[in-house]
Amino acid sequence: MAEPKANVVMEKIVSLCKRRGFIFQSSEIYGGINGFWDYGPLGAELRRNIRDSWWNDMVRSRDDVVGLESSIIMHPKVWEASGHVAGFTDPMVDCKVSKQRFRADQIYFSPVIVDGKTVSYVCALESDRIAEELQESAETYKRKKAIQGKLEPVQPREFTEARPEEIPLVPSPATGEPGSLTPPRAFNMMFQTYVGALRDESAIAYLRPETAQGMFADFKAVLDTGRVKIPFGIAQIGKSFRNEITPRNFIFRSREFEQMEMEFFISDEDDWQKWHRYWIDWCRDWLISIGLPASEISEYNHPKEKLAFYSKGTTDLMFRYPFGVQELWGIAARGDYDLSQHAKFSGTALGYFDEATKRRYVPHVIEPAVGVDRILLAILCSAYHEDQMPDDKGKMETRVLLKLHPRVAPIKVAVLPLLKNKPNLVSKAQEVRDLLRKHMNVFYDDTGAIGRRYRRQDEAGTPFCVTVDFETFEGMKEGPLAGQSDTVTVRQRDDGKQERLPISGLLGWLMERIR
Ligand code: ATP
Repeated sequence: MAEPKANVVMEKIVSLCKRRGFIFQSSEIYGGINGFWDYGPLGAELRRNIRDSWWNDMVRSRDDVVGLESSIIMHPKVWEASGHVAGFTDPMVDCKVSKQRFRADQIYFSPVIVDGKTVSYVCALESDRIAEELQESAETYKRKKAIQGKLEPVQPREFTEARPEEIPLVPSPATGEPGSLTPPRAFNMMFQTYVGALRDESAIAYLRPETAQGMFADFKAVLDTGRVKIPFGIAQIGKSFRNEITPRNFIFRSREFEQMEMEFFISDEDDWQKWHRYWIDWCRDWLISIGLPASEISEYNHPKEKLAFYSKGTTDLMFRYPFGVQELWGIAARGDYDLSQHAKFSGTALGYFDEATKRRYVPHVIEPAVGVDRILLAILCSAYHEDQMPDDKGKMETRVLLKLHPRVAPIKVAVLPLLKNKPNLVSKAQEVRDLLRKHMNVFYDDTGAIGRRYRRQDEAGTPFCVTVDFETFEGMKEGPLAGQSDTVTVRQRDDGKQERLPISGLLGWLMERIR
């Protein structure tokens, strides 16, 4: 069964995150608040490394993308123009008995049909095995009620498609009994607040549900700086807020999260499909460059009939999380909808004048939009490993390790004096720490047996451990560095392999591997 195994893996990851200081529940001392998370010392570093890698590759390494940091609260008209006030809704369903809330598009149901006659209904929550779960429930129902005849294969449908007369017949996912689900109703996911001292309609504002609108609202301001020419992109990293009906799967779906979005503006006459493909490939390659396995990434093309009317095409990069294959990164071709809407609502012309052709037009846009937290979770899920390694006494034990790519690993190198009570070992180790610290995040640890210290770093995903021992002073007794002093042992996390390096070459050796 896929489900319990997935739960076990997720439980292990959640527990490691708490124990080692990657992720904590927000406000935990007050009982927590659903859908909000805090990043501890290791999590904050990991997150920063993801952001920095993206910014470096998306903005700094390119001539055709510039950065932006727009405000979280914008003029409320921005959200009217973008369509969020009217349409940023999810279909919400209440279970009147359990008081639980569901997203109607995450509940699936099917009639149980025996010998051509509907005898009942079954339901299942969104997962990788919707059809199988519904079929199993239908078979169980038939067996329990001792119904004779031929059971037809289930026909899964979203609860959003349930006909009014079917709604009271579909069992609630909370209770398993029919009759308690309400019809779906639109629930706007934007967080509202008031700006200024008055608390009336005129003061209503919203916490942004996406960063993208900042790029459209500032399009003209960026264009007027004169640094950019079509095709070009504006990129931004920042917090977004959505009052999700069912935050779940750890940090996968939260109410406060961080997005990295880029709006790439192209000519209305350019081949949008070429650019769309270009950005899908770019995003996929980038995920691989920070250590996600290519085998766990797939593509999902949104069917034409489910796209917004203005959308030309949307492709999601999907990742195989332990709880199923889910959207990680959406790459949307949005035509000229956003700029045209803002031009209409603001009364400001948001066109582009092409000097070469002397033609004015409204650019079209390709938008790769991704959540930092979803990347971070994908990284943790694929990096989590357990293997067998000998302990200090040579006895095999289970080791937990995070095989993080050195680019994103929170700690790049741990510096360990073999013994804490030998001043020369300690001062040399501190010297090595200070040498490296200017260039990378270093962790100094002198407590406990060396094997235990290695294990602690394995769990934190630290790719390298540097040990200062007696041979550092006495000189190497054998091997290629025989007779040489001022050398250290470098241990690699994944295979535990150790090699001896002169301290003078250590920085260069590490820099080559963490870039
Ligand atoms: P979903 O269908 O999962 O709700 P979406 O299609 O609404 O996502 P977009 O509006 O396209 O998502 O947002 C772009 C990206 O932002 C997503 O691909 C995802 O990585 C991230 N994201 C969206 N909602 C959340 C959330 N509630 N928590 C964490 N990340 C999110």
